[in-house]
Amino acid sequence: MNFELTEEQKMIQEMARKFAEREIRPVASELDRLHAHPAEICAKMGELGLMGVTIPEEYGGAGMDYICYALAVIEISKACASCGVIMSVCNSLYDFPLYTYGTEEQKQKYLRPVASGKALGCYGLTEASAGSDPAKMLTTAVLKGDEWIINGTKRFITNGNVANYCVLAAVTDRSAGYKGISSFIIDFENTPGFHVGKVEEKLGINASGTAELVFEDARIPAENLLGKPGEGFKQMLTTLDGGRIGIAAQAIGIGRATLQESINYSQTREQFNKPISHFQAIQWKLADMATQLEAAELMVLRAAWLEDNKKPYEKESAMAKLLASDTAMWATVEGVQILGGYGYCKEYPMERHMRDAKITQIYEGTNEIMRLVIARNILKNR
Ligand SMILES: Cc1cc2nc3c(=O)[nH]c(=O)nc-3n(C[C@H](O)[C@H](O)[C@H](O)COP(=O)(O)OP(=O)(O)OC[C@H]3O[C@@H](n4cnc5c(N)ncnc54)[C@H](O)[C@@H]3O)c2cc1C
Repeated sequence: MNFELTEEQKMIQEMARKFAEREIRPVASELDRLHAHPAEICAKMGELGLMGVTIPEEYGGAGMDYICYALAVIEISKACASCGVIMSVCNSLYDFPLYTYGTEEQKQKYLRPVASGKALGCYGLTEASAGSDPAKMLTTAVLKGDEWIINGTKRFITNGNVANYCVLAAVTDRSAGYKGISSFIIDFENTPGFHVGKVEEKLGINASGTAELVFEDARIPAENLLGKPGEGFKQMLTTLDGGRIGIAAQAIGIGRATLQESINYSQTREQFNKPISHFQAIQWKLADMATQLEAAELMVLRAAWLEDNKKPYEKESAMAKLLASDTAMWATVEGVQILGGYGYCKEYPMERHMRDAKITQIYEGTNEIMRLVIARNILKNR
């Protein structure tokens, strides 16, 4: 067993860290306050290869491994969790299914622009009545001549209001249950009958747009089916397994930022004539934070390693997301406590970390669903 990062892994970690420190951290609070999409930052992340980390260079990506991807998401999310999820969605939820299930032509046409950072992707699964149980989706796609006609509304779609392309799940055969769900590639600009609906106002990750996608007799070319009809549900499960590594990494980034800022603050804030870091009550919080984060980060990197080595990782990615997100949520609440009244005010980024952390327990499968996935895995073959 070797815990040492490779030269390439150290290189992308360092590159992402420097970029995030220089270009993202100074504006992160302002982006949050203004609920502003970080278009320039996204373009720069694209130029650095961060929007297609694991995608081969022939399709516009950086051709690196999943550990590199997780390390980069951690670094970006330390500075800004919104930028972290924009990156995670492009890599895990858009690039991955395109690369894994797309034809050569689809990859050149729809994967290359996003993996190379010239466009943004999104992933449309959730609907108003189909969240944890996506098989209940109502959106339909019907083949008429050489076009699919799509009707329905997707809810809560990250990047939905700013993306150029989408991997969309829709029902093509209602009688077949979950085996009647298929995936499609949507080029928003060239899809008559599509428009962006409501853009959500949220508790956190405010610089990341979350929008409805509305399809009203929307027409896309027949060749924009991804894979075969009926494969959509299976594709979705595999896509989310990898996506959870990205969200777990986002949670670690939030947690790492929280720990660092808690250490800095506790060493400078004085009460009772000494820095508050001298009080055991504070030291124990910092020690617990550091320990929990270390454990969660190891689980995230191990899940990424399993994916790199083509070993099963469904259970491990669910465990990593469960532990990393719970750790981030708990650590940020403690972080606010360490900063006292200042933790509660927007002068410091701690309250943003706390608001941002919450979503990591919810999206790409809630932590209740993570426990179902883990239990299903450990109970099978018994
Ligand atoms: C900011 C944001 C961004 C998002 N981005 C995307 C995106 O890009 N693409 C996309 O497709 N979706 C996206 N989502 C949707 C997200 O994945 C869903 O919100 C999430 O899966 C939960 O679905 P739900 O909100 O309908 O909750 P519900 O499924 O209604 O769950 C409500 C509660 O019931 C619990 N519950 C449900 N079923 C069970 C069960 N069987 N056992 C135990 N407890 C259960 C849940 O854990 C939860 O606590 C996003 C959501 C948000 C808020």
